[in-house]
Amino acid sequence: MISIAIHGGAGVISRDQLGPDDGAAYRAGLAEALDAGYAVLEAGGSSLDAVTTAVRLLEDNPLFNAGKGAVLAHDGYAELDASIMDGRNLSAGAVTGLRHVKNPIDLARRVMEQSPHVFLSGSGAEEFALTQGITLVPNEYFVTPTRKRQLQRVLQGQTQPKNELSGLGTVGAVAVDKSGNVAAATSTGGMTNKRWGRIGDAPVIGAGTYANNASCAVSSTGHGEYFIRSVVAYDICALVEYRGWSLERAAKSVVHEKLVQRGGEGGVIAVDPKGNVVMEFNSPGMFRGMRDSSGQRQIAIYEK
Ligand code: ASP
Repeated sequence: MISIAIHGGAGVISRDQLGPDDGAAYRAGLAEALDAGYAVLEAGGSSLDAVTTAVRLLEDNPLFNAGKGAVLAHDGYAELDASIMDGRNLSAGAVTGLRHVKNPIDLARRVMEQSPHVFLSGSGAEEFALTQGITLVPNEYFVTPTRKRQLQRVLQGQTQPKNELSGLGTVGAVAVDKSGNVAAATSTGGMTNKRWGRIGDAPVIGAGTYANNASCAVSSTGHGEYFIRSVVAYDICALVEYRGWSLERAAKSVVHEKLVQRGGEGGVIAVDPKGNVVMEFNSPGMFRGMRDSSGQRQIAIYEK
């Protein structure tokens, strides 16, 4: 069975914040990415291509906190992180602190496929991007009026109005293809008002992203500091591999027990090589979607 799942960030999401159309634009953005990724799988493409396609579209969508529309750091710049992993052979690529790479997921993939390294940062990563012909843009390309307002509010110590979403919207995708290979990808602007080169979980292999054909593929979203310490994506795969747990049991245990006990809010999407999909979160909502070859297709925002 082929399947794909995507997320567009977890956190406090209420019907008040999404307005009378109930987040129609978010749902449309999720549907576009989900169906584009699924089309890759259906045409016999790889899970790596499917997750790259889905994440790239979410990066281009200004509603989500990745690529265009990323949240802003303390100094007002967008600073982007991304990672990708191939479950066939555990190859992985990750980038952090980018200010000019239009699609960070494309650069993470080049790091995986075209460099001898796994994790590149800042100006060095962008120098590598130049050697790869990756599209670079001025930082203003990423900056939207909404994210500017959110940063101003945080800097002035104001609280977020109840009818507006805060800085959530990290994106990710996981998929399994016709050959049973799994892959995962995650991309984010991190947290509003981050400083000192702060790096969240999204580009950290094992925390934000992990994929192994022996267990599963996972992409995380939530409070990155907690997800790094809990090595969330790897922990779920390890429970599946070493304990023989189902994907659902492993994801539930990490998201609803371990993370909750430690105070970490957020969620994950995951698939296993058989095509099982889970989308678990301990926050009020998570933008998410899944589709598989048994005919299931779901786009959802709030708790089940
Ligand atoms: N996990 C991301 C980070 O901490 C943020 C998020 O998913 O909302 O950078």
